[in-house]
Amino acid sequence: SAEGSTDSVQTFELGPEHELRFEVEGKNKVIMSVRAGMAEVFGTELVKEKEYTFLSGAKIAVFTWQGATIELRGKAEGCYIAKETPMVMYLNCHAGLEQLRRKAEENSELHGPVLMVVGPQDVGKSTLCRLLLNYGVRMGRRPIFVDLDVGQSHVSIPGTIGALLVERPAAVEEGFSQQAPIVYHFGHKSPSGNIKLFNTLVSTLAECIKERMQANRKANVSGVIINTCGWVKQSGYRSLTHIAQAFEVDVIVVLDQERLYNELVRDMPPFVRVVFLPKSGGVVERNKAARSEARDSRVKEYFYGLRSPMYPHSFDVRFSDVKIYKIGAPSLPDSCMPLGMKADDNKTKLVQMQPGMGILNHILAVSFANSLEEEVIQSNVAGFICVTKVDPERQMMTVLSPQPRPLPQTLLLLSEVQYMDSQ
Ligand code: ADP
Repeated sequence: SAEGSTDSVQTFELGPEHELRFEVEGKNKVIMSVRAGMAEVFGTELVKEKEYTFLSGAKIAVFTWQGATIELRGKAEGCYIAKETPMVMYLNCHAGLEQLRRKAEENSELHGPVLMVVGPQDVGKSTLCRLLLNYGVRMGRRPIFVDLDVGQSHVSIPGTIGALLVERPAAVEEGFSQQAPIVYHFGHKSPSGNIKLFNTLVSTLAECIKERMQANRKANVSGVIINTCGWVKQSGYRSLTHIAQAFEVDVIVVLDQERLYNELVRDMPPFVRVVFLPKSGGVVERNKAARSEARDSRVKEYFYGLRSPMYPHSFDVRFSDVKIYKIGAPSLPDSCMPLGMKADDNKTKLVQMQPGMGILNHILAVSFANSLEEEVIQSNVAGFICVTKVDPERQMMTVLSPQPRPLPQTLLLLSEVQYMDSQ
C-alpha cells in the first residue's frame, strides 16, 4: 500500500502500440496496475488489477499491443507515453526465431536458433534478450539464456558468466527465476580484466550448453539467446567474434551501431545472419555511479533476496582451513618466461593468495573443483561468499554466506568485485 499523503494517483490511457515509460528514484516506490485492456513489461504479460511494485533504480516500459488503461501510484519520474517504439521490429525478430524453431522441430538433424545480441552500452541489449526469451516461453518454448555481460550479469552476480534454462516468463519486478543456473567465476567487472580467461570461459560454457542441448530436445529446438557486454572495440570486438564462433551462432542482432553491424557483416561467415535493429528511445543511459549501484544491488540480492527476504549466515573461517586463489599472474614480457611458455599462459594460471587485509569486502567464489589447475577454471561454482572481516592476528576471516557453515568446498577464488555488507 502507498505511504504518506504525497503519493499521487495517475491514470494513463494508452492507444494500440503505445508505451508508458517511467523511472523510480531515491527512496520512492511506484505501484502499477492495469485497469483495462492488456499490457506487458519487457514481454511479460501483466495480470489485470494486480499491483506491481517497482523500487528505486527501476526503469520501466509498459507496452500494449491493443491499448490499455494503466494506473500509477507513487512518485514516478520522467513519466510519459511514447507512440514510436521498435516493438514491431522486435516482434518480427521473434517471429523469425519461431520459424527456425519450427524447422528444427520437423528435422531432428537441426537445432533451434542460437542468437546473440550485441551493441554498445545502454542500448537495451539485456531488455531485448528478456523480450525474446519471454515471447519464446509464452509460445511454449524452453530457450536457454546465456549472459556474458560480466559487468551487469542477469544470471548471477557481477564478475561471472552464466546460463539458465528459461521455463517461465520473467517476473515483472524481479526478472528470470534463478533456479539452477550454470555459473562460472571470472572475477572482473569487464572482459578487459583478463581477456584470455574470458575467452577460455566462453568456450567452456559453450561446450557445456551444447551438451545440455543434446540432452534436452525441447531446449535444443528452442535455441539460445546470448547477451553480451557493451565493449565492442578492439579486443572487445574480437571477443564478440570468439563468442560467435564458440557458440556457433546463427543470428547476430546488432543494436544501434551501424559501424559494428558493418564490421560483423564483413567478418562473419555467410551462414551467420547479421541483423540491424534500432534501439528503443526509452532505454535509459546509466553513468558509472548508476552501474556500480546496480552491481551492489545484484550482490545484495544474492545474499538477502529482493522481495522475499533471505537470511544469510555469518561465521568465522580459519585461514588454514581454506585455500584462496586468484586467476592470472601478472604479465611478464615473453623474454622473461621459461622456455616454451608465453606470457599469455600466465593469464589462466592459479596464483595462491596469502589471506590478509587485501581480501576484505571481496567476493570469493566457492569452486566445485577439488584439485588444482585446469580443472578449476573449467569448473562452475557452487556459490559465493563475501569477506566481511579479516583478523590477521587470529588468522581468521568472517564471511557472509547463503549456506550455514561449513563451507561446501575449501577452494576459493578471489573476485575483484567488492561488497560492503551494511545489513
Ligand atoms: P544494455 O543491456 O544495452 O546495457 P539494458 O537493456 O540493460 O541495456 O537497458 C538499460 C536500462 O533501460 C534498463 O534499466 C532498462 O530497464 C531500461 N529500458 C530498456 N528499454 C526501455 C524502454 N523502452 N523504456 C524505458 N526503459 C527502458
